[in-house]
Amino acid sequence: MKTTAYSFCFLVLLSFSPFTLFTAADDHGHSAGITPDEALKRLQEGNERFAAGKAEHPNCQPDRVKETAEHGQHPVATILACSDSRVPLEVVFDQGVGDIFAIKVAGNVSGASQLGSIEYGVAHTGTALVVVLGHTKCGAVTAACTDGGHEGSVESLMQSIAPAVKRIQASTGKTGKEAIEPVCLANIYYQIEALFAGSEILREAVKSGKVKVVGAVYDVETGKAEFYGPHPKTDDLLNGKTVSGIEPQSAEPVAAAVTPEVLAKSIGLGTGISVPAPAGEKTTVKTVISVRYPAARPGSFRDFMQKKGSFMGR
Ligand SMILES: [Zn+2]
Repeated sequence: MKTTAYSFCFLVLLSFSPFTLFTAADDHGHSAGITPDEALKRLQEGNERFAAGKAEHPNCQPDRVKETAEHGQHPVATILACSDSRVPLEVVFDQGVGDIFAIKVAGNVSGASQLGSIEYGVAHTGTALVVVLGHTKCGAVTAACTDGGHEGSVESLMQSIAPAVKRIQASTGKTGKEAIEPVCLANIYYQIEALFAGSEILREAVKSGKVKVVGAVYDVETGKAEFYGPHPKTDDLLNGKTVSGIEPQSAEPVAAAVTPEVLAKSIGLGTGISVPAPAGEKTTVKTVISVRYPAARPGSFRDFMQKKGSFMGR
């Protein structure tokens, strides 16, 4: 019922808003016709080809340009990634024209415009998969970990990454340069939380089972992307619960060697929750600090489009 109500509201919105600016160009409601897992497989296989030096450069010919112009876009995935020039999405996933609905912003943070773009990718171009992609050696994450990035508007990016820095400091004790790698992953999960907190469109899409939101890290040294799957607390996030806002509690210390896999499972979990380590050992989230999300932004996409409309004199 909820889905029906949502669809109706969305259609009404489409009829009376600047959404119509895009409807002529895009075939909204149509997707690439693949499931989230099939989309994930395509990205993984494309990345394997790229990393192995066997890229096929699909969908890069003039006929593809013509095809997408005539029939609209049906991208494989919506990806929120860092602006870093070493992470060109179509290249590293060996995709082409019309294949990736890309949102690039330094530090892959999820401000209102990024959220609006993701909602557009899901609700309008029909992508079944949303990836929040961080990367190694990220300048934005490095700056956030080492008290840099205070110049101009860069500061706002630092504020968006700061919750992840605080989480890692609280859960592992790591600060400065040694925190960069774990903060990269923690930031991905924090941004996923912010996306769900701010977007009913995204929550409903995932609840319906038609869309998945996953985290991944791209290694700028190997060219390989590692996918970490959905946020471990996705069910809570879908029900509007924040997985932060939990008071710090003492628990067993985090295992000395926190692997990315363990960390991926532990970031965002409540205090005192044991998660199995790959080696069969147990590690425990030491503390989870309180983090406040930005206020819910149910109309991000609409706000975004209204801004766009104003730029165009509408
Ligand atoms: Zn970066």
